[in-house]
Amino acid sequence: MLGQKIALFGGTFDPVHIGHISVAADAAEQIGAEKVVFIPAKRSPLKGFLPKGGDEHRLAMIALAIAENEKFEVSDFELNQPAPSYTLETVRKFQRDYASDIAVYWLVGADGVDDLQHWHAIEELIDTCNLCTMCRAGCEPPDYGKFEGIWGRRRVEKLQRNIIQTPLIDASSTEIRRRLAVGDDISDLLHPAVAQYIRRHGLYRSKDRL
Ligand code: ATP
Repeated sequence: MLGQKIALFGGTFDPVHIGHISVAADAAEQIGAEKVVFIPAKRSPLKGFLPKGGDEHRLAMIALAIAENEKFEVSDFELNQPAPSYTLETVRKFQRDYASDIAVYWLVGADGVDDLQHWHAIEELIDTCNLCTMCRAGCEPPDYGKFEGIWGRRRVEKLQRNIIQTPLIDASSTEIRRRLAVGDDISDLLHPAVAQYIRRHGLYRSKDRL
């Protein structure tokens, strides 16, 4: 379809929480994207450990959390790739799958800005898609000015144009795992069906490596 926009949202989603859902919905609205695809990673190339929740559990929890939003989908593409999978390859896969005139947006939270310089083929990724940075509670507002010397002015201007003022939702998967491990109530941070799934499967009870 001419002019179609699709937003891809990668992460470990260990577990998916209300922050992910709220900012993805808001970003889709601001971008004018017809669709947001949640793409859980087998593991993050930059996090030195595997997610605590198994692949199938993380996928199932995303499916539950997004069920009421018809714009949202989940893809197991990266879970089926040899880990670690790289964002550039995922973007190219979606560009191949959709019509060539589709504009692909990749969503990342503001806490990831400093890590971007370590991403595989980051300059090619910036050129290939619209890398959109979403604001995050507790993080400095994104500012790419300091990267001009390495990525060049054109790329930095593109990144700055694609900063999205998403609502500040104070939720993080690490904090949720920590609270679950000590038996705290986390119902304010999770979709009720995800909270129920975690209880039913006894996930995140261990205090090891939160
Ligand atoms: P952790 O706290 O364990 O690092 P996380 O909550 O950041 O996990 P991820 O699965 O790593 O969860 O996040 C996927 C993407 O969503 C990342 O780009 C992250 O920056 C972004 N993100 C997560 N939570 C928020 C939030 N509350 N607001 C904005 N962006 C978020």
